[in-house]
Amino acid sequence: MKQTKMLIQTLREVPRDADVVSQQLMMRAGMIQKLAAGIYDYLPLALRSIRKFEQIVREELAKDGCQELLMPTVQPAELWQESTRWSFYGKELLRLKDRKDAEFCLGPTHEEVITDIVRKNVRSYKQLPMNLFQVQTKFRDEIRPRFGLMRGREFIMKDGYSFHVDDADADKGYWEMFNAYKRIFSRLGVKFRPVEADSGAIGGSFTHEFHVLAGSGEDGILSCDSCEYTSNVEKTEAPRIPAVDHGPAQGLSRSHFRTPGITAMEEQAKAFKDDAHDGLPLHQTSKVYWLTAEFPGEGDATRQVAVACVLRGDHELNPVKVKNYLGAADLQPMADGEDFCGAAPGFLGPLPQEGTRHWALHQAPKDALVYLVDRSLEGAVNLTCGANVTECHHFGFDPKRDLPGAVFLDLRMAQEGDLCPRCGKGHFQAFRGIEVGQVFKLGTKYSRKMNCVYVDEHGKENPMVMGCYGIGITRTVAAAIEQNYDADGIVWPWPIAPYQVHLLDLDPGNGEVRGVADGLERDLEAAGFEVLHDDREGLSPGAKFKDADLLGFPLRVMVGSKGLKDGVVELKDRRTKELRKVQPAALVAEVM
Ligand code: ATP
Ligand code: MG
Ligand code: MG
Ligand code: MG
Repeated sequence: MKQTKMLIQTLREVPRDADVVSQQLMMRAGMIQKLAAGIYDYLPLALRSIRKFEQIVREELAKDGCQELLMPTVQPAELWQESTRWSFYGKELLRLKDRKDAEFCLGPTHEEVITDIVRKNVRSYKQLPMNLFQVQTKFRDEIRPRFGLMRGREFIMKDGYSFHVDDADADKGYWEMFNAYKRIFSRLGVKFRPVEADSGAIGGSFTHEFHVLAGSGEDGILSCDSCEYTSNVEKTEAPRIPAVDHGPAQGLSRSHFRTPGITAMEEQAKAFKDDAHDGLPLHQTSKVYWLTAEFPGEGDATRQVAVACVLRGDHELNPVKVKNYLGAADLQPMADGEDFCGAAPGFLGPLPQEGTRHWALHQAPKDALVYLVDRSLEGAVNLTCGANVTECHHFGFDPKRDLPGAVFLDLRMAQEGDLCPRCGKGHFQAFRGIEVGQVFKLGTKYSRKMNCVYVDEHGKENPMVMGCYGIGITRTVAAAIEQNYDADGIVWPWPIAPYQVHLLDLDPGNGEVRGVADGLERDLEAAGFEVLHDDREGLSPGAKFKDADLLGFPLRVMVGSKGLKDGVVELKDRRTKELRKVQPAALVAEVM
């Protein structure tokens, strides 16, 4: 391919609004261009890398019998209402109306659509398991789109979904995908880690994220230096910090909580969420309920205070996360639809028992959640009720001030150097990571709500057990750059380099040089290499070298009249900068 014919406009200057290396280099290398916040054009060079990565993904998924399909980006609201996510997804879901006022959204993910496809087409256990995937453009109206392709609003994702007859088979499918992801990121040639992760808004029983390790990563990862345990800091088992006793417990009892006191004030909660909690992931998809609680005041007076309960988008706080914060071994998440004190669905535990007298307040710093726990239960710490500190403050409620009898147990997130809670031997090392993929076991969350059932061998209908598996295609390409660059530009890993060889004609006006360069282009292409031939005239060799470094293809071949006088061309390795002189006729053999 001749560079004069290709759409590549390199930039000397670092674009003003580019905050991370991959974004700066991709913009400077003429790979991407911003069309609107978080929305980019993928120009020809970028698309080549994107397609190559997609190809790796397709090949590895094919080994596990996954089938590719393609679902629409525009999805009808009805499906999202069926799964109940229409009301929980929040502003990341871009909603639209057609000319008839029917509501739609741009797909941020496709659990609803795929579940609809499978329920319409799969009936028998004999057809299961089935694993379907697509490579498709997603839209998420991210609160803070940034970092170029790493956190766009429009981006390309591979999303896959598997359907199984039972839990055991779903687990099998999960680990199959886990291993496929390991193969995919290994083939890509980047340093990565699978990490245990929070299941966030999608919910489900367990999940791993795959992270490309890079200083610019938005996620913190803790990894034990002695055992296998590696997890997202958000989910790492928290160390317990000794209780701070603020004096004798005053005691609260069930009667202090007005049972039907939870009112969903969603509109207010939403507005509040939008102005006050910008950027806090917990809030992006959560619903807020107010719990009115009565606490003993001065003398006979009873004070009523509002304690806000923040519920996750899927109607429950992530039980694992809460459990880790609290170290509560016997904490049970409530079942779907189960009531919290008879008034609102989904919170984590029953209200205090009558006569319970000892209370502790746990604080979990990350999401500033406060939990009231019943300490009268021997040994076990039992979560009874929770609130978000920020929201408490919003209502003039200060847990430390207003619950004078409470014992505060401050909990903090695990950090580097902490003793590993799994093996008790090693210590945590901290890394930064870019989440490039995630595998989830979803269970029957969607299949139950959307009636996606199969008929078993006894003729009985059962909900299918599901898994879902995502890879951020465009984010991964950017992440590969975050890990592979130097002061001069990108240093592409071979498998996703837009071209493998950059052939520089240093004297394009010179017929002999042109002839040799054209010949090498043909020979290299015939040998299976992808070659970009810089045939541009009127540029100094220095300017071509700078562009070649910036574009960062693994191999560079330089053809100039000076070298040809000695019968050689020069071959340079982008990563090691190693330079070799080679006879043109021997070049292909040299690079093979
Ligand atoms: P994040 O925590 O970074 O917001 P996520 O957990 O919301 O990501 P998933 O729902 O797990 O993302 O989607 C699967 C994959 O899609 C992610 O692992 C990531 O690689 C990619 N992805 C998610 N959001 C974006 C985005 N805004 N821009 C580019 N890629 C994204
Ligand atoms: Mg997200
Ligand atoms: Mg995430
Ligand atoms: Mg994720």
